[in-house]
Amino acid sequence: MINRKWIPAGLILLVALPPLLPVLPDYWITLLNTIGLASLVVIGLVLLTGVGGMTSFGQAAFCGFGAYTTALLTTSLGLSPWLTLPIAILLTCAAAVVLGLLTVRLSGHFLPLGTLAWGISLYYLFGNLEFLGRHDGIPTVPPLSIGGWDFYDDRTVYYVIWSLTILAAVATLNLLDSRVGRSLRALKGGITAAESFGVNTRRAKLVTFVYAAFLAAVAGWAFAHVQRAVNPTPFGLGAGIDYLLMAVIGGVGHVWGAVLGAGAVILLKDQLQTLLPALFGHTGNYETIIFGVLLILLLQFARQGLWGLATRLPWGRLSFVGGLSPTGAPPPSSPSAASLSFPAPSSPTPAPLPALTKRHTPNPDAPLLEVDHVQKTFGGLMAVRDVAFTLAKGEIVALIGPNGAGKSTTFNLITGVLPPTAGAVRFQGRDITGANASEIAAMGMARSFQHVKLLPTMTVLENVMLGAHLRGKAGLARAILRRDRAEERSIRAEAMTQLDRCGLADLAQHQAGTLALGQSRVVEIARALCLDPALLLLDEPAAGLRHGEKQKLAALLTTLRAEGRSILLVEHDMDFVMNQVDRLVVMDFGAKIAEGTPDIIRDDPRVLEAYLGGIE
Ligand code: ADP
Ligand code: MG
Repeated sequence: MINRKWIPAGLILLVALPPLLPVLPDYWITLLNTIGLASLVVIGLVLLTGVGGMTSFGQAAFCGFGAYTTALLTTSLGLSPWLTLPIAILLTCAAAVVLGLLTVRLSGHFLPLGTLAWGISLYYLFGNLEFLGRHDGIPTVPPLSIGGWDFYDDRTVYYVIWSLTILAAVATLNLLDSRVGRSLRALKGGITAAESFGVNTRRAKLVTFVYAAFLAAVAGWAFAHVQRAVNPTPFGLGAGIDYLLMAVIGGVGHVWGAVLGAGAVILLKDQLQTLLPALFGHTGNYETIIFGVLLILLLQFARQGLWGLATRLPWGRLSFVGGLSPTGAPPPSSPSAASLSFPAPSSPTPAPLPALTKRHTPNPDAPLLEVDHVQKTFGGLMAVRDVAFTLAKGEIVALIGPNGAGKSTTFNLITGVLPPTAGAVRFQGRDITGANASEIAAMGMARSFQHVKLLPTMTVLENVMLGAHLRGKAGLARAILRRDRAEERSIRAEAMTQLDRCGLADLAQHQAGTLALGQSRVVEIARALCLDPALLLLDEPAAGLRHGEKQKLAALLTTLRAEGRSILLVEHDMDFVMNQVDRLVVMDFGAKIAEGTPDIIRDDPRVLEAYLGGIE
């Protein structure tokens, strides 16, 4: 058995080898350089499209920004390429912020259309500006050099390019396996769930967008100095489409798939460009047809792309090359280890875990939650009409009523997913009417969803860790540089603790998409508990649970109340509700029709009427 520690070293040696082999013709080294540069751009697309769900045809234009900036500054001002690198990055990122603010808010197919539009515009801009040399571009860009030593030769440039590519891949893998990375990955699960755990989804999308542009800028910068000339052609729409094709063929969503996809497309294109014209007896871009067919076949039969196929091979499970759910992640520390204050004498003393932020303690004088005559209309339908009730600290209250009564909508009004049409909501004495879901989450309110909103491709543990998003601080830079490990361990330990008390610790490493519906609901409760909420809102938590599981859930709710947490729950299982709650609020057709203790509600004629149509 090979020691896994040696795999990275082995792969780096393998990457370092080609230029040292005299048998390998220069032409192949040039191709490898092209693959390295394209990989840089495609790694950005993996994050943007594969992780963030935003399709972009415009990445080539960002390469152009990087390339033209360095070409112009090195030729006209004589600056060193190493000085123009940060300038190229800054300029491109600034452009990406502006374009991102305009485009990432577009939904559905409008976003790719938007990227097409600015991709084309920038191409024509490069080709029409006098000081950028119009369609001839800027010739005689200096080569990269270190200490007076010029990188003219493709065999030396190779090391610059592949160092950048590997750095980008490792940085991106680090990013994905972090607090910020989880928030970016959460984008694919829809904004409601992400916002409910404090993720600013607008910002997360923009960060993804700028990160992808950043990598494209670096590729463009290197490209200018490798080619030692720039012109608009490599930065046009065709190139933008090629990058997207590489991402899809590689298996969009996998960092190493980007390298694989770039390699496959560039090598195939190179071969087809000589083979096909010979076959057809004409010159022409026949390879485009083959790529089109290939793309359709892959989308039909292998959505995970080449990387997906590769990981199904026996060696594909090796940890180093892990994809979005790094299979080689260290086993989560056991919950008991996290809470033990004195470790067993034989084991080495573990470093103390940094404490996660505590949520707000409720203002003791005000009711924890005041729902003050809220209303919500959807067009002509009044889904919630004039509903008012309060909830005290440590209380468990059930919101019940027939289907369509407006219970879930009331939840959405309280948690900030929807703004009320009229009325107000106060939490811990503060008016939260009109605040967004992420602001309200930050005040200590967490929820589960009637329609489960977990990320199916993330592990159960990672899903639960998202619940602690607001309790960590590590940002992008700390994630990329791996300076967030202590905080990550704390978050993981907290997630394991919550999973354990919900009875699901065994499932921590399972993909969330493989769970039964009832289990998914409980995972959502564990995720909500990770926020350390003062108020927990559970929308039909017992639906789909078996009898034994319901009993465990009931025991959990009792413990939570003993901890001083308040719970508002929607539930249809009347036995469960009546045994579990302090009070009930009954809704029908959007309005509150009754409120009181289980004993009172059980005999209330209006409730019987609503549920049974008046039959005794
Ligand atoms: P409950 O959770 O009590 O079953 P809901 O709050 O989900 O009820 O729905 C109350 C009513 O509001 C239903 O008639 C539903 O169709 C309608 N409704 C809920 N959400 C929306 C929405 N986003 N747009 C339009 N109608 C909605
Ligand atoms: Mg509902």
